[in-house]
Amino acid sequence: MAKIGFIGLGNMGGPMVRNLLKAGHAVAAFDLSAARLDQAAKDGAARARSAAEAAGGRDAVITMLPAGAQVRAVYTGEVIGAVSPGTLLVDCSTVDVASARAVGAAAGAAGLDMLDAPVSGGVAGAEAGTLTFMVGGSAGAFARAEPVLKTMGKTVVHAGAIGAGQAAKICNNMILGISMIAVSEGFALGEKLGLDPAKLFEISSKSSGQCWALTTYCPEPGLVPTAPSNREYRPGFSAAMMLKDLRLAQEAAATSGAATPLGAEASALYALYCNAGNAESDFSGIIRMIKGR
Ligand code: NAD
Repeated sequence: MAKIGFIGLGNMGGPMVRNLLKAGHAVAAFDLSAARLDQAAKDGAARARSAAEAAGGRDAVITMLPAGAQVRAVYTGEVIGAVSPGTLLVDCSTVDVASARAVGAAAGAAGLDMLDAPVSGGVAGAEAGTLTFMVGGSAGAFARAEPVLKTMGKTVVHAGAIGAGQAAKICNNMILGISMIAVSEGFALGEKLGLDPAKLFEISSKSSGQCWALTTYCPEPGLVPTAPSNREYRPGFSAAMMLKDLRLAQEAAATSGAATPLGAEASALYALYCNAGNAESDFSGIIRMIKGR
């Protein structure tokens, strides 16, 4: 079993550490929050006093931090200088592609293997150990990381070179954000036309409008029992998180020259929805704004 340093013990990192411990790995953990560090120590992790201490002398270092700024600071300021040669670096945070590539290049310059490995599946997936990992980096580094990632997730996909994991994540979530709005508009129009939502669901779920936002996560209540629409739009996946990913997609579109007009519109609509006090509700709740409620 591996010696792992884990930095960032929040809503996602905390349960990921528990799954590593359950699989028998030795984890040295660090977070700026004393409460989160206490919880990880209670779960069985060794308490590190800094990111550098968590990283030193480990087989692998895993990070689960809020955004690109923290990832750049933790790796270039502390981790890269503290690890032993041969330590594998894996960042599971969702960050901009440019930060993933910059940190990967800094690690490479120090002779270290690094992967970007953002996840989907949310807190429930982190707790159940059923996350999907989208991984960017060399094939050799991927092969080393795969068994460790499998203790925290069900699906682990090698997406390409460093940055490809983040690219896959923001492309997927842009599709999801747009399709959630499309499904919401369908139900809003159906309602104005006097169509029974159950009939629209019955037809669209078997027709060309079928998609995950409709059949697995339907924003209209009463049609998919497990969807957040049936529990007052409690997340699930918060609108704030969706907005973060849509903004990362827009940043990437601007720098790469991709035309993503619907992604831009989805980002603007989620900003309106969040600013109206809904940031912490599930992203499927945007149907309420689209229906004018
Ligand atoms: P969170 O805010 O709950 O946790 C982040 C943790 O990082 C906090 O405990 C914070 O104290 C710690 N931290 C910040 N800066 C630090 C530093 N310099 N050194 C050490 N610790 C530091 O966030 P989360 O929900 O766990 O999300 C983490 C990442 O996972 C984000 O990039 C997010 O976009 C991504 N993500 C989240 C979800 C979700 O449903 N929550 C789903 C998929 C991906």
